[in-house]
Order: sequence, then C-alpha cells, then structure tokens
Amino acid sequence: MTACRFCRGTRGDVVLDLGEQPAGTAFPAAGDPGPDPLFPLRMWLCAGCGLAQLAEDPGGAEEVVGLEPVALVEQGRAAVAELAAAGVVGPGVTFTEYGSPHGGSWVAGLAATGAVPAGPGETVDVVVDNLGMMHDADQAAALRERVARLRPGGTLVFGYHSLQAVVEGGQWNDLRHGHFAYYSTSALAGMLEECGMTALRAWWFPLYGGTVLLTARASGMPGASVRELVEAEERAGMRDAATLSSLQRAADRVTGGIRDFLRDERDAGRPVWGYSAASRAIPLLARAGIGPELLPAIADGSPAKQGRRTPGSAIPIVAPEDLLAAAPRSVLLFVDDLLPEVRRALPQVEAGGGTWLLPDTVPTRA
Ligand SMILES: [Zn+2]
Repeated sequence: MTACRFCRGTRGDVVLDLGEQPAGTAFPAAGDPGPDPLFPLRMWLCAGCGLAQLAEDPGGAEEVVGLEPVALVEQGRAAVAELAAAGVVGPGVTFTEYGSPHGGSWVAGLAATGAVPAGPGETVDVVVDNLGMMHDADQAAALRERVARLRPGGTLVFGYHSLQAVVEGGQWNDLRHGHFAYYSTSALAGMLEECGMTALRAWWFPLYGGTVLLTARASGMPGASVRELVEAEERAGMRDAATLSSLQRAADRVTGGIRDFLRDERDAGRPVWGYSAASRAIPLLARAGIGPELLPAIADGSPAKQGRRTPGSAIPIVAPEDLLAAAPRSVLLFVDDLLPEVRRALPQVEAGGGTWLLPDTVPTRA
C-alpha cells in the first residue's frame, strides 16, 4: 500500500504508470549483457494533501548533471533578481541553499546581492531550495528540516517545476526514479501550512514550461500572486486524479507513435538512428519496447557515454561521426531543446537528405 510521502495518508490514485523501468539512469558498458534491474515507475496523487509523488523508488542517488542548461542558469539569475527586488535577500541577509543534482546553484548570485552564506547547521534569514526537495523521499522530514533552519521571521524560498505545467504540457517523461514529488502550488502551500508557514508570494517563469518561485514565512497572508496560481490550478483540476491521468494518455500516444513509426520505417528499409543518450530517453524506449532492431544506435557527443548502451533497451551509444557515416534517413532527437544546436553542429544530416525528428512529432500513421 502506498503511504503519502508528506501526510502519510493512504487514500489516493495512481495517475501515471510507466510499467517496469530500468532502476537507474546509468548507462551500462556495451558489453554488459544485463539483465538490468527493473522497477515499477508510477505517479500517485494523494487524496489527502494533494501531493503528486513517486509511488515506488529503487533507491540510489541521481546522477549529477555535469553541464547546466543555459535556460536553468538564466532562470536562476532572474529569480535572484526578483528576490532582491522584493527585499528578501540583500546586504547582510544570511542564507543557506539546499542544492539540486540538476545544478543551477544560486549561491554566487545570492552572495552578489550582499547576502551572506551561512555555515553548516547555522540558522539563517533565508533558506533557498531550487529543485532540491523533490529529491527527498521523506517530504515531511525534508520540509521540517528546512523550516528548522530559519531564524524567527525568516523566509523560505522554493523553486519548483509546476505540476500544472507538467500536466498541461503532457510532460509524462518528467516522472523519474529519484524524483519523489511533483508540486502544485496548492499542495505545497498546504504542506507549508502544516509546518506553520504561509505561502506569501509567487513568481512564474517559463523554464520547463512553467517553474514557480515561492516565498513563505511564519506569519502573513497569502498574496494575490499565490491565490491566483492556486485558483488556476483548481480550475485546471490539479487535485483531480482523472485530470492528471491525461499524462498516461500522453505517454501512451507518444510511445505508441514512435514504435509504429520505427516499425514502418524499418519495414520500408529506411533506417532511423537516435541522438542524445539522455536519461529521459530511457523510459521512452523501455515503455515503447524499442531495441536495436528498431533503433540501431544512439549517437551522443559525450565521450563518456560512447561505448555504452541504454539500460533496459540495450541500444548502443556511438559517436556522432558514426551517425554521419551511416547517414540514416531520420534521426530521432531525444532532447527537444538541442534541435537548433545539433542542426548547426551536424549539417551533414540534412545535407544528405536526412531529417531530424522529435519524439512528440514523429509522423503518425494516417
Ligand atoms: Zn498526502
């Protein structure tokens, strides 16, 4: 039985079930015959506190991202500027940051406002958590720990990918082992309230289709910016399991579409290769049942990934030069944001008559 990672309630619904998935995001060596351990990957919506969360997790830490996407760095800069303008941070204000394996630390930006990073365990004026707490299995303990770091009158600052953006963008691929919580503003505000905090102000950013910056203190009333987000979520049904299940339909549509497309192309003798061995490609390939017989290889610019294979689906990862030499008819790009970059870096693909495709937009059967 699933118990909520925050309120411990057991009433709730599975809203997205991606089946048995490779337990890690690591890429085994090409010669590693497997089998790779598999684990259920499901999102569960708590009927009590409204927190959307990972139902089961195999354990193990998330791989730290080496390269920070430009968009993440820019959003961090904009967020710190908003906090400074609102007077949350500035000269002499002490702070601590709970970091994220996704990178994008705000410490340098916060310090540049004159704010002072605190030592380990010290209580502070401001606790910042950007995309951090989603990685904590015990959400109640994690939130209490952050609140306990605050001095009386201190401010908690949260940055999170909005559940509404995930649902409305059909971003089913965000469900990952190690990502324990998918926050709506409404659920997070309720969690804060349980810990004696009030969500005061919210800012919305376009990162990942919708990222929210939220401040909370032990006193005060929620401002209009918070109420508006909560009301929009209410209208959109962010506590309604049936609404969140649209993620399941999105997952089924995309994985089915890619499988059909790859089969059709193989049967017609038109080879398709992949590009970018990103962790988000793993559940897509596993769920669609795609192996090397449908997608012979995935090229990746990172030498650390070349000579490895995808877990579960066992597709070899090769160098971009191998892809150019093979000159496939189509290249399926697993990270949409990279499209402008790869078109520039590998003009030979299109010059040779090939086409870049994104998972959401593969040609579908008539
Ligand atoms: Zn709950």
